[in-house]
Amino acid sequence: MNVLVCVKHVPDTETRVKVAADGLHLDLGEANWVVNPYDEYAVEQGLQLKEKLGGEVTVITVGGDDATKSLRQALAMGADKAVLCSDPAFEDADPWSTARILAAAAAKLPCDLILSGKHGVGGDNQQVGSLLGQLMGIPVVTVVTGMDLEGTSLMLKREIEGGTEVVKASLPCVISCQKGLNEPRYPSLKGIMAAKKKEITAWKAADLGLDPATLAPSFQLKKMELPPPRPAGKILSGEIPDQVKELVKLLHDEAKAI
Ligand SMILES: Cc1cc2nc3c(=O)[nH]c(=O)nc-3n(C[C@H](O)[C@H](O)[C@H](O)COP(=O)(O)OP(=O)(O)OC[C@H]3O[C@@H](n4cnc5c(N)ncnc54)[C@H](O)[C@@H]3O)c2cc1C
Repeated sequence: MNVLVCVKHVPDTETRVKVAADGLHLDLGEANWVVNPYDEYAVEQGLQLKEKLGGEVTVITVGGDDATKSLRQALAMGADKAVLCSDPAFEDADPWSTARILAAAAAKLPCDLILSGKHGVGGDNQQVGSLLGQLMGIPVVTVVTGMDLEGTSLMLKREIEGGTEVVKASLPCVISCQKGLNEPRYPSLKGIMAAKKKEITAWKAADLGLDPATLAPSFQLKKMELPPPRPAGKILSGEIPDQVKELVKLLHDEAKAI
């Protein structure tokens, strides 16, 4: 089975976020960039399917040249091929444009299954996988925590509020992967060395038959701001029984928690 895995290059979640002076962008100068954590489940799932059924795993990203770091990480885990979709016209790609770029690239690649993460940390839109399936006219199953092959179909477990839903989907389809689906492997030293030598295919808008004029974001970001700083906490003093009474009063009257 040939699997295409969508990988987003993101600032790690430990990054202290600052809003840039223009109020429209994040200042990510000091960020450490990594593979989107949910995409690691997707890469792992692709590798497990390849080990069981044969075929190839191709990882793909829409991003700048620095996004090759995440592609190399996925190659080091065991992916066979990598594609970087990079063009000045992609720079402000919103989820719709990102999905259009990925759909155009997927049409040029052999793929029986497309895996994405549940969501991309940073943007948090949870849209790209679903839009990609819609653009390609194939089924989409989201928030998947279990996967088994049954003939030419997939039996999938989805996380829903308070329970699990079991869904059967025919191939080809797009699956968005959730924590719990598997335990992503660490790249081995051999994998890291091999990944350094693997070629990364680079595609620009023209290679994908995309007109840059149609890739402008479909919404306009007006302003970004951090939440107001949290007020300082209260430290109670005095005898313990008095503190407990005071705490209950505060939880009731001020915090409205009880
Ligand atoms: C030059 C350049 C710079 C960028 N800089 C930033 C940035 O600083 N911060 C930021 O958050 N985004 C950045 N992006 C990425 C782009 O803005 C987002 O990919 C897009 O808006 C989707 O947002 P999301 O993460 O909320 O997607 P979601 O819909 O939440 O993502 C769901 C899943 O879709 C797939 N996916 C999402 N985006 C991509 C992608 N780009 N490539 C491959 N698969 C993807 C992943 O599997 C992901 O788990 C940049 C893109 C380019 C081309």
